[in-house]
Amino acid sequence: MKPKYGIGDKVFKGTYDRVETHVTCPDCGGSQHILVTLHDGTELAIECGGCDPGGYQGSTGRIKQYVFTEIATPYTVTGVNVRANGVEYELNNFGGSYWTGAEAELFSTSEEAMTHATAKKAEHEAAENKRFMAKTKDEKSWAWNATYHRKCIKDGERQLEYHRAKVKICEGKSKEPK
Ligand SMILES: [Zn+2]
Repeated sequence: MKPKYGIGDKVFKGTYDRVETHVTCPDCGGSQHILVTLHDGTELAIECGGCDPGGYQGSTGRIKQYVFTEIATPYTVTGVNVRANGVEYELNNFGGSYWTGAEAELFSTSEEAMTHATAKKAEHEAAENKRFMAKTKDEKSWAWNATYHRKCIKDGERQLEYHRAKVKICEGKSKEPK
């Protein structure tokens, strides 16, 4: 394999950098709750699963997202390592710390490097979105949420009925002449 670049060549490495940001949850619109309608028409406001960070913390109404910025960084080739699986370049090795780069990510112009970085960025974002969609479409956890809260309401209603009945009995008894 013949290396494309030689020692002393100026090259541009096309990469993308990850920046953390928060956006409004697309499921609940930031309200932290969503409305679930059960088969019998019962509507329940439950904590949004889309922005639930997990653990004991409640839904936040915001989700963490990563935005990527593409960059083209200029380097000077200071070493060329020809290997069976490709050429790896040593970059800016002037005695201190240095970088490496595969031939596929190095270009002679910053425009080419940016084009490469944009394509790589798009690939990565698509994968990230897939993961995100998988999380929000987790029907099992939604179902569990609804079932759990419904059970609590049912239990609550049963208790309410019981206590109401008790109060009625007491009232009835108190009205009985002695
Ligand atoms: Zn949400």
